[in-house]
Amino acid sequence: MECRKELLPADSCKPKPTDESKLGFGQIFCDHMFLMDYEKGKDWHDPRIVPYGPLALSPAALVLHYGQEVFEGLKAYRGVDGGIYMFRPQANLERMNRSNKRLCIPELPVQETLEHLFELVKTEHEWVPTLEGTSLYIRPTVIATEACLGVKVSSKYLYFVIMGPVGAYYPEGFNPVRIYVEENYVRASVGGVGEAKTMGNYAASLLAAEEAHAKGFTQVLWLDACDRKSIEEVGTMNMFFVIDGEVITSPLHGSILPGITRDSVLTMCRHWDLNVSERKLTIDEVLEAQAAGKLEEAFGTGTAAVISPVGSIHYRGTDYTVADGQTGPLSHKLYDELTGIQLGKRPDPFGWVVKVK
Ligand SMILES: *Cc1c(COP(=O)(O)O)cnc(C)c1O
Repeated sequence: MECRKELLPADSCKPKPTDESKLGFGQIFCDHMFLMDYEKGKDWHDPRIVPYGPLALSPAALVLHYGQEVFEGLKAYRGVDGGIYMFRPQANLERMNRSNKRLCIPELPVQETLEHLFELVKTEHEWVPTLEGTSLYIRPTVIATEACLGVKVSSKYLYFVIMGPVGAYYPEGFNPVRIYVEENYVRASVGGVGEAKTMGNYAASLLAAEEAHAKGFTQVLWLDACDRKSIEEVGTMNMFFVIDGEVITSPLHGSILPGITRDSVLTMCRHWDLNVSERKLTIDEVLEAQAAGKLEEAFGTGTAAVISPVGSIHYRGTDYTVADGQTGPLSHKLYDELTGIQLGKRPDPFGWVVKVK
């Protein structure tokens, strides 16, 4: 399907940020966005690149009342050769379709949607920043647009993609964060929508995050909804622990988000012949290992922060230090390898990188 383009004249485009060391996260948007509609009987249609701006939406649009929405997050990078690269973009669209299924949203045609994504990035190529650690963040989203106050599956949707240059996700950068183990609130339960990237999961997490921030913690570590014992994940990251040489992450049992960074880290660790387990891990086991001096390191994984080392874990009023509050060796190695592959500095043995321009 041809993508229609309605582009701004060059003199109406915004100036690019001059200081790439101060980009922050998710506050600056490119000049253009991508839109595509769905209507029952008409399938996905009218793909178009248009100037970035407000969406016209009925106040009765189903998404505003019942949260029928899914989103994705991925990045385009300025490679060392000046080219523009993306990391496993097809995996994001495939995950989006799994989220779509869970939310009763019609699936997107992966190949075409991928082509449109590349087209948008190429159109905005000047917005891909160059400074190390920066990238162009891409946010594909689907919302239910039918105007109706009855709870039902929408017959109309809008798929849109907005983008903007970003720096480090956390103000700490690649420095260890302090995490707060949450026992009162839960993020998601098995059978719910925790494994879909859908808005309700994040709305549900805000109060716990606010309370943790007020106490001086960067992130909330979620425990399972049943026993409040097993480690689930952190905010917008999957969690890894290294205990006595074993690299452990929670299995994809239905309430955690199947991260693409998580999958990439598992693949790399197995490739390096490390002892890797996707298994249930309780907070008690983590703290026992810490007490015995066997908790070597802990880190979160996600597109926004890549690898985020954990310096301390706060549980029931006590702070437990991890890796002396420093960035552990595996966190370092994974960060260097992953960003090296993404920027074309290192070989890409798994075929993860796609050259866009
Ligand atoms: C997006 C997200 C992740 C990380 O997924 P990536 O594909 O690695 O970016 C982890 N947990 C949650 C809750 C998320 O929303």
